[in-house]
Amino acid sequence: MNAPPGLQAFDLTGKVALVTGANTGLGQGMALALADAGADIAAAGRSAMDETVAAVRSRGRRGTPVEVDLLDEDAPERAVSTAVEALGRLDILINNVGIIRRTEALDFSVADWDEVVQVDLRAAFFLAQAAARRFVAQGGGGKIVNIASVLSFQGGIRVASYTAAKSGLVGLTRALANEWAGQGINVNAIAPGYCVTNNTAALRADAGRAREILDRIPAGRWGEPDDLGGAVVFLCSRASDYVHGAALAVDGGWLAR
Ligand code: NAP
Repeated sequence: MNAPPGLQAFDLTGKVALVTGANTGLGQGMALALADAGADIAAAGRSAMDETVAAVRSRGRRGTPVEVDLLDEDAPERAVSTAVEALGRLDILINNVGIIRRTEALDFSVADWDEVVQVDLRAAFFLAQAAARRFVAQGGGGKIVNIASVLSFQGGIRVASYTAAKSGLVGLTRALANEWAGQGINVNAIAPGYCVTNNTAALRADAGRAREILDRIPAGRWGEPDDLGGAVVFLCSRASDYVHGAALAVDGGWLAR
């Protein structure tokens, strides 16, 4: 691909990106945006990746599935090594997998705390560590984008473990940026607003709650998976080489309100 002058800083040709949770929702949208910008994609998760891998290949990029359940202890290391075995190197990690449990704090169970923190925060750290070790071994730096939330900045309702994990993920983004910026590794976050995916199915099924949320979004609509495309390509490209530890809200203006 020959990007026009001015857009070359956004060109990802020859880069390999590992995207977790790439079978659906925001992860699939970001994987395809990265492929459109030139990257080859290792599509990781616990479900079949056929649709995403086919869409990546139809764009003329290499795509490979990486089967991992992030509740497994060795999943982060295995995801990185499988991606490297299949595609030869690693330049980009998108820590996108996230789960949510909605229950009153008074009734919150240990399982609903532990699983969310394990998947949304602990696995994200160890994936970042495994990717950064690879970047250091290769030389030449790399890009890590953590998918946070507007609940990294707000309390939310009935989502204690999710808010804690997503708030922690923005702190972790800053901590890792501090440690790794000097080695050419950019660690940043995207904080999506309310988007139409499986994650928000319960909210959207509650007509009253869905209306309250929509009324508060300045853009006047819920987000869609391809709304994150521009932000993720920017944060994975040379255009963002001097951006470290930022959390970029892509939320239709929700946090500005
Ligand atoms: P989603 O449609 O529910 O997708 C979540 C992804 O994570 C799926 O691919 C899912 O796989 C995967 N996953 C869940 N548990 C896993 C595990 N143990 N091991 C491996 N993969 C696992 O949600 P989404 O809305 O696209 O969310 C993507 C990210 O954006 C999450 O971090 C979420 O917190 C964040 N976010 C979403 C919104 C929103 O409004 N949608 C807002 C703010 C932040 P399966 O398909 O197999 O379940």
